[in-house]
Amino acid sequence: MSPLQRREFLAAAGLAATTAMMINAKSAEAGDTSFQNNVPDSELAGPELPTFKFELEKSEGKVIGQSFGKEATVKQLPISKGIAGVSMKLEPGAMRELHWHATAAEWAFVLEGRVRTTVIDPEGGAETKDFSPGDVWYFPRGHGHMLECLGDRPCHFILIFDNGYFSEFGTFSISDWIGHTPKALLSKNFGLPESAFEGFPKEEVYFARGAVPPETASQPLQGWKTPALTHKYELLKRPPHRTFKGGREWRVDSTHFPISKTVTGVILDLEPGGLRELHWHPTADEWQYVIEGEVSVSMFGSHGRYRTETLSRGDVGYIPQGYGHSIENIGRTPSRMLIGFNTGEYQTIDLSQWMAGNPTDVLATNFSKSASLFEKFPKRDVFIAPKSEPGSKG
Ligand code: MN
Ligand code: MN
Repeated sequence: MSPLQRREFLAAAGLAATTAMMINAKSAEAGDTSFQNNVPDSELAGPELPTFKFELEKSEGKVIGQSFGKEATVKQLPISKGIAGVSMKLEPGAMRELHWHATAAEWAFVLEGRVRTTVIDPEGGAETKDFSPGDVWYFPRGHGHMLECLGDRPCHFILIFDNGYFSEFGTFSISDWIGHTPKALLSKNFGLPESAFEGFPKEEVYFARGAVPPETASQPLQGWKTPALTHKYELLKRPPHRTFKGGREWRVDSTHFPISKTVTGVILDLEPGGLRELHWHPTADEWQYVIEGEVSVSMFGSHGRYRTETLSRGDVGYIPQGYGHSIENIGRTPSRMLIGFNTGEYQTIDLSQWMAGNPTDVLATNFSKSASLFEKFPKRDVFIAPKSEPGSKG
């Protein structure tokens, strides 16, 4: 675009955003949230699609000792309004202190090491669980929790939040709260002398550091009061949900993990050349993290807008709800991705299945080709296509 065109475009985008806000306010009053789907997202309203890639593991994040938290929110990746993510590593003896999130639920997948969590619920229940690589946890929005590294080796996990505006560095931490509350009020609250609160941290601790926790967790003050729904799911201890020549998928949504009402998680393995076919998700945004390998992600955004990004180990990708996309392993080794959706009920529509569901004369007319051509197309969902055989492109 010329500078003039760009200025006009930005002015139009600004007007569209203002109108969108007005319409949003009106529809919120009317209680019709589905109507928001018709409101242009200024981030997605341009003539070209914005980047949907962020090199998460190459970012600096917050570092304390050997522990770190690196995040991808709308600040680092503006397109990612629906989902934020964090890569967190804890050194032995380190704890992500007691905290809650005012505006997001937390879903996690453990990559390395062992983690212990305790999470409380509004009914007074509390669950303490230990996690190993391949395990998942889910904490509903606002439920207080902590994470600590178990054993003498560091642990590394990926956190997914169902709100792209959520920042892991804006959580409500217990040390921050107690440190800023007058001692007289604390004394009354707990029925203890003010001296009991001498020497407490005055600012947020974030990563607390202490002894390696006991192998068996010590009993809480109130005893064990386990909630009805567990927060733990052993995703990779189960067989894959679907297996193909070109790869496999593990998936967990609220049908198997009932507490996870707002997040679905997937582990997608692709063999070299394997392709998760062209598809879209009618009800959710998609957040991607590459655990191993190198993939090419394509995104289609209507109006002729098409963009690809190459994601390598430690990179994050994001596909907005309803946008067409595919994932192809372009490396020489198998790839593994962690994929999160901001829905508890997973849905996908795959291009091969969409076409297979239409009468062949419809396809013929649509593409101005003979119906016989479409007889050669897949008769069912492809989902994951294998590497092309030599010569098959002819
Ligand atoms: Mn948290
Ligand atoms: Mn997808």
